Amino acid sequence: MTLPSVAESDRAAGALPGRARVVVVGGGVIGTSVAYHLAHLGCRDVVLLERDKLTSGTTWHAAGLMVTFGSTSETSTQMRKYTRDLYRRLEEETGLATGLKQVGFIELATDRDRLEEYRRVSAFNRLCGVDVQEISPGEVKELFPLARTDDVLAGFYVQDDGRANPVDVTMSLAKGARLQGVKVLEGVPVTGFLRRGGAVTGVRTPYGDIESEYVVNCAGMWARQLGATAGVNIPLQAAEHYYLITEPIDGIDGSLPVLEDPASYGYFREEGAGLMIGLFEPICAPWRVEGIPEGFSFGELPPDWDRMAPYLETAMERVPISLEAGVRKFFCGPESFTPDLQPVVGEAPELRNYFVAAGLNSIGILTGGGIGRALAHWILDGRPNIDVTAMDIDRLHSYQSNPEYRATRTVESLGMVYQCHYPGRSMRTARGAKVSPVHHRLVEHRAYFKDVSGWEGADWYAPEGVEPKVEKLSWGRQNWFPYWEAEHHATRTGVILMDMSFMSKFLVQGRDAGRELERISANRVDGDTGIITYTQWLNEGGTLEADLTVTKLDDKRFWVVASDSAHRHAETWMRRHFADAHAFVTDVTSAYAQINIQGPRSRELVTSVTTQDLSNEAFPFRTAREIDVGFARVLCIRITYLGELGYELYIPAEQAVHVYDRLVEAGHAVGLRHAGLKALSSLRMEKGYRDYGHDIDNTDSVLEAGLGFAVALGKPGGFIGRDAVLAKKAVGPLTRRLVQVLLTDPEPLMFHAEVVRRNGLPVGYVRTASYGFSLGGAVGLAMVDAGQPLDQAWIDDGEWTVEIGATTYPAAVSLRPLYDPTNERIRM
Ligand SMILES: Cc1cc2nc3c(=O)[nH]c(=O)nc-3n(C[C@H](O)[C@H](O)[C@H](O)COP(=O)(O)OP(=O)(O)OC[C@H]3O[C@@H](n4cnc5c(N)ncnc54)[C@H](O)[C@@H]3O)c2cc1C
Repeated sequence: MTLPSVAESDRAAGALPGRARVVVVGGGVIGTSVAYHLAHLGCRDVVLLERDKLTSGTTWHAAGLMVTFGSTSETSTQMRKYTRDLYRRLEEETGLATGLKQVGFIELATDRDRLEEYRRVSAFNRLCGVDVQEISPGEVKELFPLARTDDVLAGFYVQDDGRANPVDVTMSLAKGARLQGVKVLEGVPVTGFLRRGGAVTGVRTPYGDIESEYVVNCAGMWARQLGATAGVNIPLQAAEHYYLITEPIDGIDGSLPVLEDPASYGYFREEGAGLMIGLFEPICAPWRVEGIPEGFSFGELPPDWDRMAPYLETAMERVPISLEAGVRKFFCGPESFTPDLQPVVGEAPELRNYFVAAGLNSIGILTGGGIGRALAHWILDGRPNIDVTAMDIDRLHSYQSNPEYRATRTVESLGMVYQCHYPGRSMRTARGAKVSPVHHRLVEHRAYFKDVSGWEGADWYAPEGVEPKVEKLSWGRQNWFPYWEAEHHATRTGVILMDMSFMSKFLVQGRDAGRELERISANRVDGDTGIITYTQWLNEGGTLEADLTVTKLDDKRFWVVASDSAHRHAETWMRRHFADAHAFVTDVTSAYAQINIQGPRSRELVTSVTTQDLSNEAFPFRTAREIDVGFARVLCIRITYLGELGYELYIPAEQAVHVYDRLVEAGHAVGLRHAGLKALSSLRMEKGYRDYGHDIDNTDSVLEAGLGFAVALGKPGGFIGRDAVLAKKAVGPLTRRLVQVLLTDPEPLMFHAEVVRRNGLPVGYVRTASYGFSLGGAVGLAMVDAGQPLDQAWIDDGEWTVEIGATTYPAAVSLRPLYDPTNERIRM
């Protein structure tokens, strides 16, 4: 590689220090934002190393749309707002303008489903402080006269949104960082990492090593291959990304708002008195799966006119005059995409103190400020101060870095941005990567599968003679609604079989296993042998890190089960905290199938396939023991996540089919049904059972999450987070709590992000929802901020409603589960 001269002068001037507290790798919008925020939070001993010139990766050619509307994630919406405000005030601080033009932004809804989506989103965004208005087609025309509006149902307008200049933003952030003492060095590529004792200790460059406490990989589309040199998994992939710039068009000037028309794959903004027409095509093209060339700087890719022409034409028809204007440039540049369209942020599970902020999925400019701030807090405080469950790097698995996986999945990712975001839609590419040992049996039972952390998870089952397929995605009741309902009722009245083999399972063994698990668990987990305990793992701040069960198999062996998405987080949490103790974690997820038999007739069924006594007296709730089933030995745990009498069976993978067959055969006598994950969601939601990463997250205190009952404050030796829980209690009654919300009208459906109101005032939003077939309406869990002590009396004193799209519905709200609040059914 020929090194740029800037580096030579920097180096000659002795600019490359031998040590820094933090080394940031990459000088795009993300790297400069991380450096800026570290410095502003007081950590000024920071060096930013850029291989070539600042912005030379992806940032230089971004369109710079600044949009706060559109996400139902509180984290993303707050990051967007913060970023916009930051870019507005940076010039004052640094003297360098960011090119922010708050010309306004309009999202078009041209079909009923998108109208429904944007109405739902705008209600939520307003709750988050985004001033979004639904406007008529006529008003769209007034704001953007060149747009065709004959088919427009409505626009969603944010006056303060607009665009920024990505290069100017980056330069301003870099200057802001420099002014605080950060060293920003161009022309210095990082070629490797220094490591010691499971932690990163610095970086290698052609000019020498820099030792550091922390390293942050902000290398954009290079981040994956750079991370791999340190054994860090960053499964992102570059893809072609396009915009076209027209020659000047009469009537267009810099005051034109940004217009987005996802149904036509395009967005529009002014550029040089012409139009920039950006595209998000539904089927996209990954670029350089084998690896990004090291010397690719300020690079462009040759546009694929043939592939893009149909999308381009469709987009241009929205602003017909663009079809007549001359083309100044059809630009194609690479941007990084991730398997789930969420960024990759946080500390690598493989290497302590190695942080990553990459994979921005085409919103790196508009979220860049927020990402930088979040990561700086994460590093300096030791944990993030916002909900990071969706973007945490530890949600990703190493198989997702395989070239074939990346090439396959990325085809879908970019297009997802402009899809209608139907609830429950599953990714369709790179499927079949992981299947349960009984998968083929579930296929025979007409399971409809969805992607569950890469596993094929049975979502629902079609009745005999019906093909398991989603006929039409929608916001209403889809074709499988009655099948789901039947599975739900079968669980409440009979018995069901549910394959949960995707759950994360760990065997924790060793002399210190009990002591160490006790130290990280808020509940008492090292009590009697053969007892399962529901517990949370907390950080020092008393907020949630994990929500799982621990079963004591014997004094030196424990069985830890967490949800699929918490797999690596739970595993890393144990490994890091156990450190040198005699406690060893083995991931046995693939070694055991998990089949749940649940429902009032579950005892009858399991008893019929084993010689063991499963009576309530012999095998009470929360006990675990090995039982015989046919020729197999099975770990049987009497526990439920559905709110009924039930058992979870952990079966050696090679005996799973055998046990499954025995259960199904015996099931004929008791009316056994198969039930899928849709039923799991409705059943657990009626019971108010939490799901980490969905309705509870890393920002919630265990008390606010309503899980105080699972905290053993007085246990000997305490536990991580105990002091924070005590401090929270000492402050007085809670003012923020997770509540259950049930719509009294059986018709409307809730999914996520619906605004909850008390006496007409917004107090929170639904984090996750489902349909409560036993309760008779949509039911969800919402975190509510009362601003005063929040107890049932305060709840009962209010009139509760939920805003769904443009309509408001009455609701019942409760701190206790509305279904079987006294747990009678699970103790039968
Ligand atoms: C056509 C197009 C339009 C877009 N429009 C928008 C938009 O409107 N709004 C929006 O928000 N986003 C948009 N984006 C996305 C946005 O550009 C990216 O999300 C963002 O620029 C990513 O920033 P980054 O810092 O992660 O990556 P980069 O800008 O690529 O920065 C990474 C840097 O790391 C450096 N580097 C790599 N390896 C090393 C190494 N070994 N040592 C030192 N340095 C290294 C690279 O040289 C590079 O400068 C668009 C993208 C494209 C392609």
